[in-house]
Amino acid sequence: MPEGPSVRKFHHLVSPFVGQQVVKTGGSSKKLNPTSFQSLWLQDTQVHGKKLFLRFDPDEETVSLGNSPLSEPLRKGEQKDKARHHQEASDQSSRSPGGDSAVPSGDDGLQCLAGDSPAGGAERWLQVRFGLFGSIWVNEFSRAKKANKRGDWRDPIPRLVLHFSGSGFLAFYNCQMTWRISSPVFSPASDILSEKFHRGQALEALGREQPVCYTLLDQRYFSGLGNIIKNEALFRAGIHPLSPGSLLGLPRLEALVDHVAAFSADWLLGKFQGTQQHTQIYQKEQCPSGHPVVREALGPPGGFQRLTWWCPQCQPRLSAGEPKQVQPS
Ligand SMILES: [Zn+2]
Repeated sequence: MPEGPSVRKFHHLVSPFVGQQVVKTGGSSKKLNPTSFQSLWLQDTQVHGKKLFLRFDPDEETVSLGNSPLSEPLRKGEQKDKARHHQEASDQSSRSPGGDSAVPSGDDGLQCLAGDSPAGGAERWLQVRFGLFGSIWVNEFSRAKKANKRGDWRDPIPRLVLHFSGSGFLAFYNCQMTWRISSPVFSPASDILSEKFHRGQALEALGREQPVCYTLLDQRYFSGLGNIIKNEALFRAGIHPLSPGSLLGLPRLEALVDHVAAFSADWLLGKFQGTQQHTQIYQKEQCPSGHPVVREALGPPGGFQRLTWWCPQCQPRLSAGEPKQVQPS
């Protein structure tokens, strides 16, 4: 599934449509009736970790409340050029032939507000969670990149298509969408791409006895961090994925958090510059030094197992008897 940097890019693509009304709909979603979006106003969008949130208000409310939501949420510096053709294909790099495709579970720090009642000014937020090949396209549709097994060129079918009053449209592919009658409440302290990311809280979580590769995917502390970032940060920090955090010592854990932040920020920057993020270990057969790479599905007992790549030479395993802060040779 797309990780934090990709979902931030989707958020950036959606933002210019905030303040516009849905004038036409389409899409294959059975769960959400696409026609129910007709005439709604897109009023806000937020990104939290790997999830995107879109707030829609009904037309009547907009009129009766009298406060013009049209003037609100476009952020400074965001492009309003609606004619541009932006597209965002799903990350090639997130494709895993090994079956690493399930959507991981996990609390990502979001909480539902108590307001169950849609009355009383409750906000309607559409929560979008992307599948492995999930993507959003702007003003154009995704096209088949190759023929299927029968030799047909079938274009992917969008789950939801929203045409807006400003003449552009958004097409959502391979995602789960659910309505929430509450604001997304989220602590930016756990978002790896937020300026408010709380290193202390992250370090404390990593310092527990369990393998660091489990903690890194815990969205309560590392919201937006997915399997690619996990593998790359561990490799760059020279840390074996199964190292218990309690054996690593603070300097090495700090280096790991630095690599998480640096890799994620670079990836995000690349998203906007149109460059592919370079991976050194993820889905590789050799590390950059030419050592053979090991691949194994790792995860907490009874929990979701994620394919993990590491170099046994660059990321040596710590044994319980070793002193803390052992550096790899
Ligand atoms: Zn190596």
